[in-house]
Parts: sequence; structure tokens; C-alpha cells
Amino acid sequence: MSELARSLADAGFAGALREECPLAPFTTWKIGGPAELLAEPVSPEDLVVALGWAAGRRIPWRVLGNGSNLLIRDQGVRGLVLRIRKTLDEVTWNGPEVTAGAGALFPALANQAARRGLAGIEFGAGIPGTIGGAVVMNAGWHEFEIGNHITAVDFVGADGTRRRIPHDDCDFAYRDSRFHREKGIVLAARLKLTPGDAGEIQARLDGFASSRKENQPTELPSCGSVFIQPPGDYAGRLIDAAGLKGTREGAIEVSDKHANFFVNTGGGTAAQVLALVERVEREVEERFGVALTREFELW
Ligand SMILES: Cc1cc2nc3c(=O)[nH]c(=O)nc-3n(C[C@H](O)[C@H](O)[C@H](O)COP(=O)(O)OP(=O)(O)OC[C@H]3O[C@@H](n4cnc5c(N)ncnc54)[C@H](O)[C@@H]3O)c2cc1C
Repeated sequence: MSELARSLADAGFAGALREECPLAPFTTWKIGGPAELLAEPVSPEDLVVALGWAAGRRIPWRVLGNGSNLLIRDQGVRGLVLRIRKTLDEVTWNGPEVTAGAGALFPALANQAARRGLAGIEFGAGIPGTIGGAVVMNAGWHEFEIGNHITAVDFVGADGTRRRIPHDDCDFAYRDSRFHREKGIVLAARLKLTPGDAGEIQARLDGFASSRKENQPTELPSCGSVFIQPPGDYAGRLIDAAGLKGTREGAIEVSDKHANFFVNTGGGTAAQVLALVERVEREVEERFGVALTREFELW
């Protein structure tokens, strides 16, 4: 064990630690170099220990959910990566209210809600992220957004203090929330759903899932939409209209099925993704005067 990993364990971190751990398998794009130290917390206390340790040693840290909105550079990331997935994933139901741990998967929560006859988050069935990632991104589909159903978020700040942040202070906006800007970790989301007919809710959920299969290249690794929708238009429409469907940089390709998805056809790199993203940005700007905004985060 390296000195770095040993000192975090000695500080009282109880979860698994992996050094120089490849991150590509932990992303939906299947791209990215290693984390200097990957830590998988088993409790909120583990997170507080890790944050205190990182602050004391001035070690940079990041949070990884399901890696479905991330591009990790080929050289990887230095410092600590806290992976919160299938850990801190407890889900507690209380009538139409639910507290979902940050590591729970959004599609699993959407399915549980449907089975209980609770409406509101059916759209989450096809969003392959964690609840933590969904809160940070205010994940959504057309007019539906997770933020609309959240009553409060349990959060631990970078200084290790735990707080409950009510909905009105979360600053939910299109693919955005205060958690994008405030350094800290989402521990859990509290949601209030609407009782309804379980059959109808399940049918809506199935409809969301099949419309994705029809319109998105779900069979190949990607990060979902590369760009957020520009005001009054669709990024996919602009990329298609610029004649860029099928354009490639190495193994990364603008999907023929949905031009806002850049798929990894096998062995693609972050450098190739960035080259393709820059080319598409340039050509769309030249053709239509629209500056596209990236949805994914670059590490
Ligand atoms: C096929 C496909 C379809 C998609 N469709 C949609 C869609 O319809 N709508 C949509 O909104 N998105 C969509 N996405 C994008 C993505 O799934 C969402 O943005 C998702 O919410 C990201 O969650 P994650 O756990 O994967 O986060 P990650 O990608 O792991 O992280 C994203 C950001 O959140 C931060 N983060 C993650 N967990 C925490 C935490 N617990 N505390 C603090 N910060 C945290 C990370 O540090 C990072 O900044 C799609 C992606 C794919 C691959």
C-alpha cells in the first residue's frame, strides 16, 4: 500500500482503497486514465474522514457517481477520487416520500416508485446515473426534472459539516444546481412523489425507455447528450443540419441515430473525443452562429 493510501486508512477511512485505479470502466464512455487514489466510502462518516484528511494534506479530491456525464482525460487524475455508487445507496420509503442515498441508481429508484404507484420520476428510467449525479446535474428529460420533486438535499460541505438544504436553496435550473458550484458531497435526496395508478405509471415509464431505445444509440458507450440544448433549438438538429452525422475522430463517432451522441466504437480516447467536440463546435458556429455548450464535465 502506498503512503497516500496508508495514511487515509490510518485516518480512519473504512472503505476500499485502490491506487492508480483505471477509471474508464467506471464511466459510460469507457474512457479515462487512472485515479491516483480511488476510495469507496461505506458511510457518511467515511466521507467526513476523507474530506478532513484531504484538507489537512492539501490533496485535491473529486466525487465520481456512475460516470455517465464525465470525460476523464487519458492521463487520469491526481489526488483522491471518492466513488459513490452502490454504496451510500439506502432507499427509505415513507408513503409518497422517499429518501434516496447518493449512490442509489436513478433508474432503480424510478422503477421502485412505479411499482409503488408513485408518479413523477418515470423519466429517470433511462438516465444511467446515481441520485447524487442526478441532483448535481438536475437530470431531466424535456420538461421533466428531478429537482421538481426534491424537497431537500442532505449535503456534506468541503469542511466536513453536514447540512440539510431545502429545495428553494438548491438553485435547480436546466441541467444545473448549486451543487455544481459548491464544493461538497451530496449524501441523499429527499423526494415527494404523487400517488397514482401503478399501471399507468409503469406504462409511462416503459414509454420513456422504449423511446430512448428507438432514438438513441444506447448499444454503444457514450455520455448521453454531449451538448445542452441551445435556446429554442436542439443541438442534435444543428449538428445533423451541419452534415456532421457519422463524422469520426479515431474511434469516436457522431452517432447516425442521434447527432448529439458521440459514441465510442471501441478503444476511443479522451483526446479523440475532445478533437471531435471542438470540430463540431467550430462547424456549428460557422454554419449557424450558435455557440454550443458542453453538458459533460471534463476531468
Ligand atoms: C445513454 C445516456 C443517456 C443519458 N440521458 C440523460 C437524460 O435524458 N437527461 C439527463 O439529464 N442526463 C442524461 N444523461 C447524463 C447523465 O446520466 C446524468 O447527467 C446523470 O445525472 C449523471 O449522474 P452520474 O452519477 O453518472 O454522475 P457522474 O457523471 O459520475 O458525475 C457528474 C457530476 O456530478 C458530480 N457528482 C456525482 N455524484 C455526486 C455526489 N454524490 N455529490 C457531489 N457531486 C457528485 C461529479 O463530481 C460530476 O461533477 C445520459 C447519459 C447517458 C450515458
